[in-house]
Amino acid sequence: MNRFKRPVVIAGNWKMYKTNEEAVEFVEDLIPLIEAASSTVYLAVPYTAISLVASQCLGTKIILGAQNMNDHREGAFTGEISGSMLKQAGAQFVILGHSERRQLFHETNEFVNRKVKMALEIGLKPIVCIGETSAEREDGHTIKVLTSQLKHSLAGLNEEQMAQVMLAYEPIWAIGTQQAAMPSVAEEIHFFCRRYLANQYGTGTAEKVLILYGGSVKPDNAGLLLEQNNVDGFLIGTASLSVDSFGEIVNLSKGPLKTKT
Ligand code: PEP
Repeated sequence: MNRFKRPVVIAGNWKMYKTNEEAVEFVEDLIPLIEAASSTVYLAVPYTAISLVASQCLGTKIILGAQNMNDHREGAFTGEISGSMLKQAGAQFVILGHSERRQLFHETNEFVNRKVKMALEIGLKPIVCIGETSAEREDGHTIKVLTSQLKHSLAGLNEEQMAQVMLAYEPIWAIGTQQAAMPSVAEEIHFFCRRYLANQYGTGTAEKVLILYGGSVKPDNAGLLLEQNNVDGFLIGTASLSVDSFGEIVNLSKGPLKTKT
């Protein structure tokens, strides 16, 4: 693949952690800590904290988002939340197809696909998560599983829409296990994803799409992972809950944009 430049994105996914008070305190502490970083920071906070934290983040490098949304514009869907509600509250992106949603709430690729299209329609940037289980990896099915997730979760998108999407490769065996993928493994899969995108949407689009890695990223393993050509940043769970560890990872990237080959 040609030489090109992509920005580095460090995204935090707080899951079902942090009250409003804790969220505000976290952001207050984080802002001065990451002033010199060159990466862009995405924070997926609980729905309840979005509007409160959105005003705190104005004029900072923090972009606020949500962890899920419904695939309908509005309707009788008790307990659900729409993309436009999230956008109006201050969200600019949304995580879709996280493995916890897929496994615990039985979300299919087709459901994720409908949400991706709705998010794009509304103007929320989707971060689409894909990843294999340890059994699938051990059985040699990783590429088959990822191909199917990519094909069906992104079905029907044109090149312009695809360029708005971020991917997150999150091997399920690495999430919350303290066992991050080896940098070479992450690179191999990210390279595969980029080649898939190039085949489907053209090289120009494939080079624009940021592919984040997620799964037990910590300050001590983030540096080597970020050195990989096709690792454009991270989606971080556990380590995004502490200002120190999250700030440290964000600050790994200082100075001009990383040059990728
Ligand atoms: C996640 O759930 O998206 C995640 C990557 O979690 P952790 O960083 O804790 O492995």
